[in-house]
Amino acid sequence: QIAYVNGSFVPLSEAKVSILDRGFLFADGIYEVAAVLDGKLIDNASHLARLERSVGEISLALPETTERIQEIQKELIARNKIVNGMVYLEVTRGADTGRDFAFPKAVKPTLIMFTSVKDIVNAASAKTGIGVITVPDLRWERRDIKSVALLAQVLAKQAAAEAGAGEAWMIEDGKVTEGGSSSAFILTQDDVLVTRQNSSAILPGCTRKAVVALAEERQLRVEERPFTVEEALAAKEAFITSATVFVQAVVSIDGKQVANGKPGPMTNRLREIYVDFARATAV
Ligand code: PLP
Repeated sequence: QIAYVNGSFVPLSEAKVSILDRGFLFADGIYEVAAVLDGKLIDNASHLARLERSVGEISLALPETTERIQEIQKELIARNKIVNGMVYLEVTRGADTGRDFAFPKAVKPTLIMFTSVKDIVNAASAKTGIGVITVPDLRWERRDIKSVALLAQVLAKQAAAEAGAGEAWMIEDGKVTEGGSSSAFILTQDDVLVTRQNSSAILPGCTRKAVVALAEERQLRVEERPFTVEEALAAKEAFITSATVFVQAVVSIDGKQVANGKPGPMTNRLREIYVDFARATAV
């Protein structure tokens, strides 16, 4: 396994950054994850656009152009012979000589990437669906920034894992914000697709955006608004979206079954539609 660190391709076991790196000390960094299908990047323009937006929101200049970043992503996929999996990338404000909170001057940002293998299309959970648990949303108020400060999600997803669930849905003011690492959707009894509108309360999911557009193109009614757990439990179907699961059915919430406890037909259809879109637009 080869990783990329600040201009070099090195074995993953030798890939290192300083203990003074601000990503490590302050979580002063941004990340992105793009899926790889048949050796190609999925919806990467959307991920790179979000990367540019996230770094802009924290006044961090990318050390490379997004064009160059995509070239590096592709080179890493080729070097690691990734057929199906993902590329993780992270950019931090770099390593200073100490631990001043304010931005250091003349410090170069750190850029790292690594890959991992995952057969997203044929994942077992795609057929069975997953259970989710609900937890309070303990995050800060700028969740629209894809920052590496993920402790609230680490704790949420650990609680899910301990409960035998596949994801945690985070709750704020009685409404679902999103999953620990995914966007949340329901299909109401009258066939309206509901997902929370983008705002600083959630991350603007790239997969969410594509699925909403694909659904609207097919004349499906979409309502972007918050929903409650009670609404989700009364829904026809529920699912999550993310770069690493695409569209994934949610069949139970806190141990209570959604509909008949099986992935619903609309979820399965949107999953197929998304996979077709992914393959057709891969780079
Ligand atoms: N919401 C959160 C909090 C996430 O961490 C993620 C992905 O990691 C998503 C939503 C889904 O975003 P995307 O579809 O761009 O992977």
